[in-house]
Amino acid sequence: MALEPELFDALIDTVRRFVAERLRPLEAEVEAADAIPEAIVEEMKALGLFGLSIAEEHGGLGLTMAEECRVAIELGRTTPAFRSAFGTNVGIGSQGLVIAGTPEQKAHWLPKIARGAIITSFALTEPDVGSDSGAVKTRAVRDGDVYRLRGTKRYITNADKAQLFTVMARTGEEAGGRGVSAFLVPRDLPGVSIGEPEKKMGQKGARVADVIFDDVAVPAENRLGEEGEGFRIAMQVLDRGRLHIAAVCVGVAERLLADCVAYASERKQFGKPIAEHQLIQAMLADSKTEALAARALVLETAAAKDSGANTTMEAAAAKYFASEMVGRVADRAVQIFGGAGYIADYGIERLYRDVRLFRIYEGTSQIQQLIIARETLKRGG
Ligand SMILES: Cc1cc2nc3c(=O)[nH]c(=O)nc-3n(C[C@H](O)[C@H](O)[C@H](O)COP(=O)(O)OP(=O)(O)OC[C@H]3O[C@@H](n4cnc5c(N)ncnc54)[C@H](O)[C@@H]3O)c2cc1C
Repeated sequence: MALEPELFDALIDTVRRFVAERLRPLEAEVEAADAIPEAIVEEMKALGLFGLSIAEEHGGLGLTMAEECRVAIELGRTTPAFRSAFGTNVGIGSQGLVIAGTPEQKAHWLPKIARGAIITSFALTEPDVGSDSGAVKTRAVRDGDVYRLRGTKRYITNADKAQLFTVMARTGEEAGGRGVSAFLVPRDLPGVSIGEPEKKMGQKGARVADVIFDDVAVPAENRLGEEGEGFRIAMQVLDRGRLHIAAVCVGVAERLLADCVAYASERKQFGKPIAEHQLIQAMLADSKTEALAARALVLETAAAKDSGANTTMEAAAAKYFASEMVGRVADRAVQIFGGAGYIADYGIERLYRDVRLFRIYEGTSQIQQLIIARETLKRGG
């Protein structure tokens, strides 16, 4: 259910001010420390950011997809690592539970996730299993009241802080996604261990690590949905997650545009602000046009999802277009800033590195192309 319009406007206003006044001043510090200050995480909890997408009955804000995308656009106006602090709780870490959890599973976990009392992560990728995600090798073998879980998950966002993982593991002999089931795996079960956080190109402050399951006894009641439904659940989670990521891309593009306009209006060459040179204007026009197109695609798809439509194709198109778009906008931003665009103090080179990830996780651009083509062929156009 949508929030009352005045309440939603107040939320957007609060998030906008939080981003401008609390998060943006900390961007360089987060980059240097590769960590989000704990005090900021506490402020995020107080604002309800960990529970944006979780129903009010479970302690969240219960936003619609369109509302969540509007908030994600606002959060995109700062270093994307801030959003990642609660991004898995709002998105891929919690949505399997929201989509397929039993009333008992939801009542047990969702209130803690919504208020940020625990962090939750989504564990699909493995050392040998990336884009072909239906090929998971992690195994869960039924043994009385438990499943014995063995395998390694790779590049798992927030793994170092997570207390709960949604894990996709093979339970059946069927090939591909049909043999995969989903499980809620608490971090404190014996046999769960976390690797060292990886060194990354960008998005410093958001950490990824391996999660290793060494003969972990997972209670059978922690299975999400029926055996064999795990891959379908994961794909539904990603349908939603991709739209959220696309919205973040729109926000980062809008931030970069604002930075470019401010810099180009100030910086003078050949006796006038560079903003008065038409070749600079052409770059601004291209970035603005693409950002507007991505925003429209994201919000239209979110509204269609809220109305119950199947938006698998549109969400893939939004993620594909918006993530590629923000890469081009970031590249033009470096160009508009000239040498300063390459120098860390201005923050543009940081965002240039940060946005590169959007074309890779939650399905690479090539995987989005395959989904768009498959769905378009299925729909006949
Ligand atoms: C920072 C970060 C955070 C992440 N967070 C998570 C997380 O929280 N949970 C999680 O489960 N995973 C996570 N991932 C994993 C991410 O989703 C995968 O890296 C991504 O899906 C790509 O898989 P891969 O890296 O194995 O690349 P590969 O699948 O090996 O792909 C390599 C290249 O081949 C291309 N390719 C593959 N198949 C095809 C095809 N059929 N046709 C054309 N081209 C193809 C790809 O597009 C890519 O260009 C994260 C990754 C990173 C880097």
